[in-house]
Amino acid sequence: MANLSSGERKKIYPFLAKRDGEKCANCGKSKREVKILEIHEDIYERPLRAENMRLMCHGCNHIKELRKKNMLRTSSISAEHKKSMACYPLFIKWLESEMEKPENNFHIPYDQVVDQAAFLVGKEVTGTPLSPKTIERYLGPLCDHPDSPYLTMAGSHGQFEIWKRGHEPDEDRVNLN
Ligand SMILES: [Zn+2]
Repeated sequence: MANLSSGERKKIYPFLAKRDGEKCANCGKSKREVKILEIHEDIYERPLRAENMRLMCHGCNHIKELRKKNMLRTSSISAEHKKSMACYPLFIKWLESEMEKPENNFHIPYDQVVDQAAFLVGKEVTGTPLSPKTIERYLGPLCDHPDSPYLTMAGSHGQFEIWKRGHEPDEDRVNLN
C-alpha cells in the first residue's frame, strides 16, 4: 500500500511471503501469474503489525469492497488511537515523577504501573481510564530499548519491576533485557 515506506516493504514482504506463501491471499494466484504482489493492510495502524497484512495481487488489493471495509475499521479504531497518542506524553511525565518518589526508590512493580497509569493518566486527559493494553503498548519499547531510561527486572518475589536505568541493583537478579 502507498503508506508503507520502501524500507518497510522490504522488511515485511519476505516475512509475509514466508508466512503465507508468495501468492494473493484473496484469489490465490501465484506471484508468477500476477507478476507483482502488493502488501494489503486490513487495518491502517501504526506501529505496523504483520498480523494485519497479507500479500495480494493488484486487482484484489484495489477491490472497492475491501477498501471500504478498511476505511470503516480504520475510523472505529482511530478514537482509541488518538486518545492513546494524546496520553503518551503525560504517561511519560507521570512515570518519571512516580520513579522519583522516595517510597518507590526508582522502581515500581510492572503491574502497578499498568493499573495506576491506565486509571490516572487516562482520566486526567480524557475523563475515562485508558485500557491496560494501551499502557502495555507504551511500556514495550520503553523497557526493551537499550537507550531507554527504564528497564525491567524480576523482583525478589518473581514479579516484574520497572527500574530507572542506573539505579537498578546488580546482585543476583536477572536482567530480562
Ligand atoms: Zn488476487
